[in-house]
Amino acid sequence: MAASRPLDGRRALITGSTSGIGLGIANRLAAEGAEIFLNGRGEPDEIERSRAAIEESHGVKAAFLEADLRNADQISTMMAEAERRGGVDILVNNAGITFIGPIESHPLKRWEAIMAVNVTAAYLTIAAALPAMRERGWGRIVNTSSALGLTALPNRAAYVASKHALIGLTKVAALEAVDTGVTCNAICPGLVDTPAIRSIVGRRAEAEGRTPETVIAEMLAEMQPGSQLVQIEQIAALVAFLCSDGAASITGAEHKIDRGWVAR
Ligand code: NAD
Repeated sequence: MAASRPLDGRRALITGSTSGIGLGIANRLAAEGAEIFLNGRGEPDEIERSRAAIEESHGVKAAFLEADLRNADQISTMMAEAERRGGVDILVNNAGITFIGPIESHPLKRWEAIMAVNVTAAYLTIAAALPAMRERGWGRIVNTSSALGLTALPNRAAYVASKHALIGLTKVAALEAVDTGVTCNAICPGLVDTPAIRSIVGRRAEAEGRTPETVIAEMLAEMQPGSQLVQIEQIAALVAFLCSDGAASITGAEHKIDRGWVAR
């Protein structure tokens, strides 16, 4: 018989898990035994490859639940489908989008989309999942905020506001769930080594005739102490810990994983 794993029998929905940090979290929770519900945007073939790879690598069931997180009806349908498939024990609100530019030229439509995906979607998924978690007497909610949920940088008004708001939502959900076996926490990553960051770096390096290393060094100098990016696996390990029984008393907290960015 296979050895038992910490999250055997749990079901985890990770929004924004078709790429980057979310896909890393999905793989880590699957490795701990959780059944996985993926969500996010992307090419159907690529999503199917990620879904099948999770099943094959970790021996758990994985399904893709489609929903554009800007749309409340689609979120409601996704949550109902997850409930029909057994329910959500672990909810990771990880999807996030951004815009870079000064406040006066921040398009209202983009502001609204950022708030919808980064904050309103998390409020809607928590509202849908929390009652059943309370009833079952166990649940873990992890919201991916950012170092920019605790501090600011110019030219990212909606992103910074949304990531601060997500921490506020985290605290309220934690208080409403206290003593029920359900915890709610926020994680605050610094600059992470994701495929998206690598492609931005690659494009800038090529356009400016520089090496990717010098572009990364420049980004780090603006934000994060030291010479290294945060690794996706490190974030996934933090989320796995917050989902463990050992973390039962950790709730309503924001967890920096930023190589000292906010400490500066
Ligand atoms: P990413 O762009 O690779 O992932 C974002 C995910 O959200 C994707 O799966 C995407 O399909 C999904 N998504 C976007 N809009 C959506 C929509 N309307 N409906 C459904 N899904 C949607 O980026 P990432 O770097 O992996 O970021 C993941 C999270 O981590 C985000 O919340 C981001 O703000 C946060 N974060 C990232 C960094 C970093 O350095 N990359 C740092 C701090 C926080």
